[in-house]
Amino acid sequence: MADQISDLLRLPDGPVNLAGHDPRATPGFPSKKGKQEQPALMAELATELGGLQERLFAAGRAQPRTAPSVLVILQGMDTSGKGGVIRHAAGLMDPQGVAIKGFKAPTKEELSHDFLWRIRREVPGPGMVGIFDRSQYEDVLVVRVDRLVPKREWETRFERINDFEAELAESGTKIIKCFLNVSYTEQGERLMERLDRPDKHWKYNPGDLQVRAKWDRYQLAYTDVLRRCHTEVAPWYVIPSDRKWYRNWAVAQLLTEQLRSLNLGWPPADFDVAEQRRALLQTI
Ligand code: AMP
Ligand code: MG
Repeated sequence: MADQISDLLRLPDGPVNLAGHDPRATPGFPSKKGKQEQPALMAELATELGGLQERLFAAGRAQPRTAPSVLVILQGMDTSGKGGVIRHAAGLMDPQGVAIKGFKAPTKEELSHDFLWRIRREVPGPGMVGIFDRSQYEDVLVVRVDRLVPKREWETRFERINDFEAELAESGTKIIKCFLNVSYTEQGERLMERLDRPDKHWKYNPGDLQVRAKWDRYQLAYTDVLRRCHTEVAPWYVIPSDRKWYRNWAVAQLLTEQLRSLNLGWPPADFDVAEQRRALLQTI
């Protein structure tokens, strides 16, 4: 299939209008049957994505200092599906090669350092796929909306983040930033479902309603994130996320296309295969 999800979902350059991105859209989904067809498409992707990731992992073993790595950054409002994407899309890869890190409110120790300190410690090593469930962007989102630091301080962070990401890309990390775009209405339904179902109560936090009440301010903060931190080496992808089946497929497809673009082969043997074969035959 053509590499189209990367193009379709990549945030267009220029002014950002979040309201113009339909959270219920399903661009690029290859079947008219929609949801019904999704499991078969995921199974197909699993094979390709798994193979691509194994090459990346193998490259990390063969060249532990210079192999590339991949960093997936997941951002989105509560219930947008960061966890679902990790389970269903990242879950198609071998867990040995995937490092998942969730960023919560900073600890005392983390607060005593620069905001990028805890982030730098978690960037994926060569051959690895790192996944950030929330990220450095919280430091210009919740921090801004809740006025946790003065404006003059968070204002400087967009540039700091761009510099950090450029440095990371330069050192061989492919950065894939996904904004999971869920609508206010859909979030309401998902929160209600969490209340309706005892097996989902653990996911609910009464504080989620306070965050929901600040929806418009978050949309503004996200708009600035998308506008100011959308770069050639670390572009944003806007993932329509009101339909879970589309969201999970789209991220899996995006990861597949992005890993494909690394053009990785299998590392050549650093031993004499024929000689090893002969030696092994002696033992059989
Ligand atoms: P959850 O993703 O539901 O586990 O929630 C994590 C919480 O940590 C969210 O409420 C985030 O807003 C919060 N959080 C993450 N990073 C930061 C940060 N840098 N400053 C303040 N709160 C944060
Ligand atoms: Mg939560």
